[in-house]
Order: sequence, then structure tokens, then C-alpha cells
Amino acid sequence: MNHPEGMPNATYIEGKALAAATRARVARQVAVLATEYSVTPGLAVVLVGADPASQVYVRNKRRQTIQAGMYSFEYNMPETTSEESLLQLIEELNADPRVHGILVQLPLPPQIRVAPVLSAIDPSKDVDGFHEVNTGRLWNGGNAVVPCTPMACQMLIEHVRGDDLAGLHAVVIGCSNIVGKPVASLLLRAECTVTMAHIKTRDLPALARTADILVVAVGRAGTVRGDWIKPGATVIDVGINRVECSSSGKQRLVGDVAFAEARKTAGAITPVPGGVGPMTIACLLLNTLGAACRQHGLPVPGDPAAADSPTNGNAARHCAT
Ligand code: NAD
Repeated sequence: MNHPEGMPNATYIEGKALAAATRARVARQVAVLATEYSVTPGLAVVLVGADPASQVYVRNKRRQTIQAGMYSFEYNMPETTSEESLLQLIEELNADPRVHGILVQLPLPPQIRVAPVLSAIDPSKDVDGFHEVNTGRLWNGGNAVVPCTPMACQMLIEHVRGDDLAGLHAVVIGCSNIVGKPVASLLLRAECTVTMAHIKTRDLPALARTADILVVAVGRAGTVRGDWIKPGATVIDVGINRVECSSSGKQRLVGDVAFAEARKTAGAITPVPGGVGPMTIACLLLNTLGAACRQHGLPVPGDPAAADSPTNGNAARHCAT
């Protein structure tokens, strides 16, 4: 069902603008931390190999870390790096007091197992939130470092729906450890009724049509069609897919949701690009700020530009302090 005659299309959830505002706020908080406590957060990003997409992500992370006033430490290791060498570097970074956050860019080359690498990172420096201590705490309702993309999803949802999501039905399509499962956990913490769906789920269109909030992270362009959307639903499209443009032959990025169809029915929807992606890096900066404060036994500073909001709203609530 489309919006009734004369009703506007879905609100476009401006991830880019929200990310810019979040980064600016982090920069102000970093400045307060440096002035009042002489602490400058430091983020170490480790890239193994030369995957072009990973190189772009790492470059963006580095640029935005520096723009926020933080230290950026970059480690580029060759494709042939052994698991032992990577673990050795992580041990050094765990012990380095200038480094408050450690991010190992995924995917890793096949000779390196992901699980031991993620487990080797000090949980308090695990700004990706992938260490089992943090995933366990997230599900237990404890003080976890929340993975960046799921945090971004929740912030985007709350941006359009407010932070009272209690009782809403959230359907999360895709249940990976890095996106789907932590998104479901966060929405459960927000008192949504959460259904997790995946490739084997039966009658997915009918299930999706019951969702007030639909989060899609499957990695296949156009998986969710317009007639899968409940009128007025909030749709968060996490997917990043490269498709060839039929007219120019050039590649472009699209999400997992058939955007042009879905926006006719949804209440609000994230674009791809410009939705979840930019917010993910902003959340990485939030996590690095939170990690630096925690390691120095300091509270996350209030935003000097928001005199009436010492906690800085949702973002601060998401940071493990
Ligand atoms: P993954 O491959 O680890 O998991 C995919 C999940 O989708 C699985 O649970 C699978 O069962 C499910 N699935 C696959 N095809 C399906 C179908 N046709 N119907 C229903 N379920 C289906 O993927 P991931 O790592 O979670 O990433 C998902 C997407 O999100 C990818 O496009 C990835 O590039 C993107 N991503 C974006 C960001 C960001 O910052 N925007 C971050 C991480 C991942």
C-alpha cells in the first residue's frame, strides 16, 4: 500500500548531516578533554593487505579522527602477514598509553583467524565492540562498548522516532555478529519487540510488513521491495552493494532496499550512500572518546555548545563510561 493520495514520500533520514553534527560535538568534547585534563584520545587502525574498499574506509577513519582532534595511529601490514605478527602488534597497542582505541579492519587475509585477533584486543580499547566481553555485556544489559554500525542504526532510528521505542515491533533482516545481532540486542534494550530474520526465514515479505522498524543488513541489492514495507515504518538500510549503472557502465553504491519503491510507503528511510555509512564513523569517534575517558577514569565531557544538555543525549548514553 502506498501513502494515501497527496501524502508526501518518506522522510529522508539524513545520516550525513547527523554524522557531521555528531563529529562536531565529539571535536568540542575532545577539546574540553585536552584543555581540562591534558588527555587526547588516540585511535590505532590496523589494515592487513590492500583491499581497495578497506583502504577507503581506513582513509576516511583516519581523516575524521584527526579532524576531531584525536591522534591517529595507522598500521599498514602486508597481505602475507602472519597471525602471530598481528597478535604481537595488538599486544603492543594494548600496552601503549597513547592508544585508547584499537580497530583491526576486516576482512583479514585467509591465513589469519578473525576470532583470536578480536579476542586479543583489550576489551576497554575495543572501539569496534566485537570482543566477546563487549558482545556478552551488550546482551546482558551491561556496560558494553557498542559496535559502531548498530549504534549508528539506533541513533538514526531515534533521530526520527524519538528515544521511546518501547513496544514497537522491530524486524532485523540479517543476523551477522557485526550488524544484525547487535542491532537486535540494542532494540531489545530499547524495549522493542524484536524479530530476527535471515536467509532461511519463511515468508519474509509478510514478516517485514509487520515491522514498525525495519533494519536490513543482508548485502544483496534490492532484497526488500516496496510492498514489504508497512505504511509509515522506519526503514534503516545498512547494505552497501556495488552495482553497474546500465547507462554509463560505471559502478554505484546501493543498499539492500529498493529505495524508490520503499520511500512511497515508509514513514522514514535512510539513503545509500549517505545514511548508515557516515554515522558509523561518527560512532567510532564516540567510542574512542568514551574509551579514552574510561581509561583515565574521567566522565565524558559535556558538550560546551549545549549548555542545557550535560549528558549530550543519546550518544553519551551509548558510550560505555
Ligand atoms: P553477512 O554476510 O555477515 O550476513 C548477511 C545476513 O543476511 C545473514 O544473516 C544472512 O542469513 C542474511 N541474508 C542473506 N541473504 C538474505 C536474503 N535474501 N533474505 C534474508 N536474509 C538474507 O553480512 P554483514 O556483514 O552483516 O553485512 C550486511 C550488509 O551490510 C553488507 O552489504 C555490508 O557491506 C553492509 N555493512 C555496512 C556497514 C556500514 O557502515 N554501512 C557496516 C557493516 C556492514
